[in-house]
Formats: sequence, C-alpha cells, structure tokens
Amino acid sequence: MAGDGTIFGAMLQEFDEAARILNLEPGIWKILTSPRRQIIVSCPVQMDSGEIEVFTGYRVQYNIALGPAKGGIRYHPDVSLDEIRALAAWMTWKCAVAQIPFGGAKGGVVCDPTSLSRRELEALTRRYVAEIIDAIGPEKDIPAPDVNTNDQIMAWVMDTYSMHVGQTTTGVVTGKPVELGGSKGRREATGRGVMIVTLEAARHLGIEVNGATVAVQGFGNVGSVSADLLAEAGAKIVAVADHKGGVFNPRGLDVAKMIAYARDCRTVDGFPGGEPLTNEELFRLDVDILIPAALENQITLENACDIRAKIITEGANGPTTPDAHKQLHERGIFVIPDILANCGGVTASYFEWVQDRHGYFWEEREVNERLEAKMRQAFDAVLQTGLTYAVDMRTAAYICAINRVATVTKMRGMYA
Ligand code: GLU
Repeated sequence: MAGDGTIFGAMLQEFDEAARILNLEPGIWKILTSPRRQIIVSCPVQMDSGEIEVFTGYRVQYNIALGPAKGGIRYHPDVSLDEIRALAAWMTWKCAVAQIPFGGAKGGVVCDPTSLSRRELEALTRRYVAEIIDAIGPEKDIPAPDVNTNDQIMAWVMDTYSMHVGQTTTGVVTGKPVELGGSKGRREATGRGVMIVTLEAARHLGIEVNGATVAVQGFGNVGSVSADLLAEAGAKIVAVADHKGGVFNPRGLDVAKMIAYARDCRTVDGFPGGEPLTNEELFRLDVDILIPAALENQITLENACDIRAKIITEGANGPTTPDAHKQLHERGIFVIPDILANCGGVTASYFEWVQDRHGYFWEEREVNERLEAKMRQAFDAVLQTGLTYAVDMRTAAYICAINRVATVTKMRGMYA
C-alpha cells in the first residue's frame, strides 16, 4: 500500500500522485499497480568448503505492455521481494520515460558477493539463471547488470541460457563483455546519462557547470563514471563517499586516481587526496550538485533539511523517500528523478539488444551520440510536462510514463 513504509509503498505513493493528476481510470490504475509475475527461487550451491548453501533469488516482471520485460539483477544481502518489486516497477516507468520498447523487470539474489569466491559466484549465477530460465529470453525478459553484478556475470547468464536452449543467444541479456555481443559504451552509459541530464538541468536553471561543485554518494559503476564525466565537463568533484567512508577536498578530487584506488581497495575510504568524510557529512555539504548513486532510502526526512545542493541527480534507484522529496521540492531544490536521471543504462541496453538482433555492431561514438539524443529528448519531455502541469520533475516523469503505458494498455485491450 502507498506510504506503508515499504519500498514498493514508496513507489506507489509517487505513482498515485501522478495518476491522480492524470485522472487515470480505476481499471487501468489497478493494472498498472499490480506486478504481472513474481518468481521466488531457491538456489543451492556447493561452496568451496564442500558445504551446501541455499540462496534465495527473485525475478519480478512488473509490466510488459510496451515490450519484453527489462531490468537488472542485483546481488546484495538486503535484497527482498519488496525491493525487487519496487525496482521492477521503476524499470517499467523508466523504459516508458526513455521511450524504449520494453516493459519493466528486476531480479536479485540475497547474498554477500564480497564473501564469495569467483567459482561460487559463477555457480550461484548459473543456478539462479537455470531456476528462472523459463521466464527469460530475448523476446520475454532481458536481464542486465545492477548493484554488485557486472559484464562477467552477464557472460555467465548468456552462456547458461544458451546451453539450455542449444544455441548461442546473445540477446537474452545486456551489459555483456563487448567481445561477446556487448555494446561499446554500455558500461559507462548510466553515468553518461547522469552527466547529460545534469548539464541539461544546469542549463535550464542558469547554473554554470564549469567550476560547479559536486558531491557523489556511491562509487560503483554509476557514481564513478558520473563523477569522471562531470569532471571532464568542467565540474569540481569535491566529495565522494561509499558504504565504508568517504573523502572531501574543497579544491577538487582527482577522479581518475580515485577510480584506480577504488578498484584496488574496493572503497574510496582512505583515499589520500582529501580529508575523511562520512555519508551524513556528504549530504550536508554546501555544493551545487548532489548525486546519490548508491542504494534506496538514503535521503530521508531526517537529512533532507540539511541538503544545500541546487540540483540532485538520482543516479541510484529510489534514493529519496517521497516525504523527503516533497520537502526538497518545497525548498526549491531541482531533483532529477531516478526514472529519468539513470535511464541511460537501460537505453544503451536497448541499443545492445538491437545490435545483437541485427548482428551488426556500432562504434562507441554512434552509441554515445544516440544516447545523448535520447537523454535530451527524455529530459525535455519531462521538463515540458512539469511546466504544463505545474508539478515537480518526479511527478512529471511519472505522468509521461503512466500516459505511455496506459495508452498501450488500452490499445491492446483485455485478453480473456
Ligand atoms: N540496472 C540498470 C537500471 O536500474 C540497468 C537495467 C538494464 O539495462 O536493463 O536501470
């Protein structure tokens, strides 16, 4: 239920706000707030010690009105059905905002990948894929990387599926290694998209990006690439924090050195280029741009009042609670919502899927150009919708998404 304290409840709260403004028909409202299919599997794995562990995995296909279900797989100890269901719904709205022909899905396995050996990680991945094999496929449901999963894991997903169906099927998963049917530019695409919409927002608000100060929470694929590309665009990355700790340097951090440090140490904590900083302190900094690029529920009513940034670009999915968002909006902070801000990843996944189906691969420049065009188009559509309805960017993004999914749902009609 909306606002019941669950992550799915937070998604519903955001949805309801836009659906009310749209005067959405009650029947369509019911369809769009019901996950289509929710799968829970047990994945037994023989560990290196010889013992057997059983991991729980999920795959939720939230809605397929616009096309095959699409969304990443995350490995994290806190994964739950509630979280995966909300993330699958967000994928649905994200694909609709990005105007790509996909529905929304998400998968997850409850595990701590840092404690698994490479062999255990491969065995777990293959067993999880085997357990959901009937539900996925290039025309059905196409997984991708998410928190703690990467191109190697996607290669195992592709191989496991291919071995089951008896033919190499690259289009079953995106975010693969480039050598194996992956797309150039896919790994950087989410961060590149974050950079593009941040520049668009700055232009709209009349903020000079050259020299603008940026704080980034999370330094995984999204946070690190966003920081790197914003620095390249002239911004000054003054603070970065992750789950272990962070660093602050008012003169700017050397992002390239930090990426190398984080690769070796698996954290930015202790990076020699600045002063130590906690996650709480990061949110309180007097910066122009704040990029939450870690997990859900990071900006809450408790810390929202301390935020001084002019622009918040949500690299993560669901980093801001609905109540905190309301407060930020009322204080005039321009929030670029997750379903718009981080849709560059799935947009490049769409490009990868198209390339796999054609068997013809694009140069990186072409991927980046098409990505930029799609991101700008999505940003403009949401901005215009916001101005038309006099609502914040999140509600505007939901209005765009709901309109598109509701329209095709009505066109397709009711089966049965
Ligand atoms: N995991 C990414 C997301 O949350 C990408 C999903 C995809 O490419 O399918 O948007």
